[in-house]
Amino acid sequence: MREDLLNELMNEYAAQRAENEKQEAGRRERIRSGHPEIEALAREREELVFGTIRGILDGNAKAENLPEKMQELNRRIGQKLQEAGFPTDYLAPVYRCATCRDTGYVGDTVREPCECLQKAYQQKLRDRIGLGNNPDETFEKYDASLIPDEPVNGTGITQRKLTAIAREQCEKWADQYPEVKQRDLLLTGGSGLGKTFLMRAMAARLVERGMNVLIVSAYTFLQMARKSYFESENGVRELTDVPVLMLDDLGSEPLMQNITVEQLFNLLNERQNRGLSTVISTNLNLQELRERYTERVASRLNNPKNCLILTLAGRDLRKFER
Ligand SMILES: [Zn+2]
Repeated sequence: MREDLLNELMNEYAAQRAENEKQEAGRRERIRSGHPEIEALAREREELVFGTIRGILDGNAKAENLPEKMQELNRRIGQKLQEAGFPTDYLAPVYRCATCRDTGYVGDTVREPCECLQKAYQQKLRDRIGLGNNPDETFEKYDASLIPDEPVNGTGITQRKLTAIAREQCEKWADQYPEVKQRDLLLTGGSGLGKTFLMRAMAARLVERGMNVLIVSAYTFLQMARKSYFESENGVRELTDVPVLMLDDLGSEPLMQNITVEQLFNLLNERQNRGLSTVISTNLNLQELRERYTERVASRLNNPKNCLILTLAGRDLRKFER
């Protein structure tokens, strides 16, 4: 687990516990000030617990019949609460997760993360790396039957086969990283051919393998680049530092000549100089990339020694009905 995310989660859990206590105190106050009969029973229950603990500490244990007495008191309190229009558990401890009581951990001798913490961690991780909310975007969930099994113009093979080849290459890359032949990967092809799916499946696999990945849309990249251009602070530092950067849908962002091209070149250049991997998906082909971002940028990608180029083609899958 990433320590920065875990720390954030521990702070959130602490805040939740404080919130629980506040809620418990508020409920208790409401009973104390308006329902003396229930209050008396609640006090009796507290006295029963503390009295027993005192008794045990003093050496004259009076723990006998405690569960029966407790059960009876709980029943009476529940009944009175219900009569007064409250839920029967109104005075019970408040938790979001009853398993760990919002501590995030379970077990006395061996402390293990509670299921709720593991779930929250996975969600936070997905959010942080831009993986989205769809857990089905993985190689395991890849469904070839969703892809037309029709020949693609000019390739001699079907769209299903063409996509299967790209999928295989992407999975292999994600499995072998960082021991990959080509450090960068470019996924090109029209809209709706599954590029983003493949990119997220790669990210999911890399995360599974404990690798540090970040997915940003080209639009978000431009926002960040603009900010660092005008405010002359390095807002794209995270993008230059992350071991695997995935830039989604390059070409869909508005073009701001000085900023987009310059910052994109700097980003690719610095990452390549540092031996870091960049995965890019784009609707543009190499010629269009060159026209939009200049030869300087295109040549960073159009280099088979460093960059694995996978081209998808065929019909838009979102419009394809089986
Ligand atoms: Zn829990």
